[in-house]
Amino acid sequence: MFPPPEDAEQRRAVAPVVCYPTQTLPRPDLNGYRAARDTGRKISETLVPARDAACFTVKAGHFFRITSVDGPQVGDLNLWNAGDLSERFYSGKTRALHGTHITTGDRMWSSFPHLRPMATIVEDTLDWYGIDPFGGSVHDVIGTRCDPYTGNLLSGTHYHHCCHSNLTRALADHTGLSLAEAEPHVHDVLNVFMCTGFTRDTGQYFMKASPVRPGDYLEVFAEIDLLGALSACPGGDCSSEHSSDTAACHPLLVEVFAPADGTLPGWSQPPVNGYDRSHGR
Ligand SMILES: [Zn+2]
Repeated sequence: MFPPPEDAEQRRAVAPVVCYPTQTLPRPDLNGYRAARDTGRKISETLVPARDAACFTVKAGHFFRITSVDGPQVGDLNLWNAGDLSERFYSGKTRALHGTHITTGDRMWSSFPHLRPMATIVEDTLDWYGIDPFGGSVHDVIGTRCDPYTGNLLSGTHYHHCCHSNLTRALADHTGLSLAEAEPHVHDVLNVFMCTGFTRDTGQYFMKASPVRPGDYLEVFAEIDLLGALSACPGGDCSSEHSSDTAACHPLLVEVFAPADGTLPGWSQPPVNGYDRSHGR
């Protein structure tokens, strides 16, 4: 609508500045976590059925691993403080701190006023993928979660096995909350194994077939007591569509491991954020 000003190219040429330099963030002791993990003993496993979700719990100081089994499949992950559902994964702030996709060494941060690491990624067998020529990468914190409301908005459908509904049912079943009570606790996800980006020309969110193969996994250290919910997305490997039953879908495996006592000598649960919350009053 408006003609570019004379200095348009100069303005476009200004170099970007990273919003949140992370040099001052406490660094996770990955070698310490791995040494503890090497002593780990499996204490539970949950098979998340295709086009459905399941909850699992992980004690602070334990590890959970999400593994692709049977065939390429992406998962939508929610995390809550197991003792307080109001503290939950904050994908937007995690994105602001670590970038659009997260991998080994990145943390999953919790909502205000807590804003502390809930979990730390300690291993990612897809860390070789990097950023592809389309700008796509794996394990994004840019998508929301597939949901029946957007499907209804765009095409008038009532599809009940989107990740949002799967997560809502799983949380209701686990907690005893009604569906209506559980639904507001469901939040934007970590898209495990999903390959996504933004189109360079229009800036639109895109997905493409996930590079995940059976045996690939993402392993995560629980910094606080966690309740997790994982949905095996109806999009399958998300190569074509979601929000329908047409894509080939597979289960996902969640395993929880407890390290031997005394193997995390320097670690303690992160405290909640130190801001005094007076907000200028
Ligand atoms: Zn989904």
